[in-house]
Amino acid sequence: MEGDAFIPYGRQQIDDDDIDAVVEVLRSDWLTTGPKVAEFEEAVSDFAGARHGVAVSSGTAGLHAAMAALDLEPGDEVIVPTMTFAATANAVVFQGATPVFADVDSGALLVDPNGIASLITDRTRAVIAVDYAGQPADYTELRAITAEHGLALVSDACHSIGATLAGRSVGSLADLTVFSFHPVKHITTGEGGMVMTDDRALADRMRRFRNHGISTDHHQRAEVGTWFYEMVELGYNYRLTDIQSALGLSQLQKLPRWLDRRNQIAGMYRERLADIRGIAPLEMRPDRSHAYHLYVVRVAAKAGKTRDTVFAALRSAGVGANVHYIPVHIHPYYEREFSTAKGSIPVAEQAYEEILSLPMHHGLEDSDVDRVVHELVRALGS
Ligand SMILES: *Cc1c(COP(=O)(O)O)cnc(C)c1O
Repeated sequence: MEGDAFIPYGRQQIDDDDIDAVVEVLRSDWLTTGPKVAEFEEAVSDFAGARHGVAVSSGTAGLHAAMAALDLEPGDEVIVPTMTFAATANAVVFQGATPVFADVDSGALLVDPNGIASLITDRTRAVIAVDYAGQPADYTELRAITAEHGLALVSDACHSIGATLAGRSVGSLADLTVFSFHPVKHITTGEGGMVMTDDRALADRMRRFRNHGISTDHHQRAEVGTWFYEMVELGYNYRLTDIQSALGLSQLQKLPRWLDRRNQIAGMYRERLADIRGIAPLEMRPDRSHAYHLYVVRVAAKAGKTRDTVFAALRSAGVGANVHYIPVHIHPYYEREFSTAKGSIPVAEQAYEEILSLPMHHGLEDSDVDRVVHELVRALGS
């Protein structure tokens, strides 16, 4: 490590004003489900251009709530790109439905709209797009397909808060959009997530779902007495706390600045990597802005150097490279329970052999970027 500090691939930033915001809630009357949750929901949905925000305890809980709101039944199918974190597909399974894995395009690793039509059956209920690395998927093309077949369009936007497509914010591009506030994501609440929608009924459904399936109809309560509540369907405890919401509100104020910094860092990588043979950054699609949760390059195997040897060399030089992701359909659970197999989804499987996530977070210094590139060149050898 030559005495240099380890550079993680992602990292949260907590400032004094974040800490003050949390302490203020700790001294107040409400620790959970008080005024800060509603305030945070309104702030994020305003930011993302959606009518409703439903705060939940994680991005995974948000995906689960979204699937529940769509009323999936056993046997129903949901199309999911295989190049994603397992939670995207798991949420479908939580509701007893079946994920059907789609391939991605090789340039940007976004779900390929051209491959989707052939996966649609009379059991298909929804398509989940993943804004891989922070770049919005092709929602215009996806919307044309889902509209034609009467399917819901869901966005796993755990990488892409603050990104835009054709000038429209992620959060307004799908029927349901899910954000994560895990510490490696753009803003954090420790653990946390939120679902965006313009549909009042879907929002109400998810509010019930995160609270044991208990009806929160105030009129009903007023009629019978304040003790009255009814559990109208099966739900979970997926609530976000006021403590977490205060942290999220404080973090959200800094998000535009942090997105700018992430784009600056991406620009430096692009420039410095342009002439390095064997390294190819992912493609930027036209007409959209990128939130850069990840900075992913492809490493072409040659002369004994592979993604794995480059990864190992970076790690031993104190550079926290990573791999996002093992395609979901080749995880042992899916192979066993859903009979998926290697060899069936070629573009994602090939990409998986070559992808490498370089450190990307708003706290990186310019000198960190230089060091990452220096070590990358060294790892590739000559
Ligand atoms: C982080 C992430 C999730 C899960 O979010 P959690 O808040 O960790 O539950 C889901 N999908 C993708 C693509 C993610 O990156």
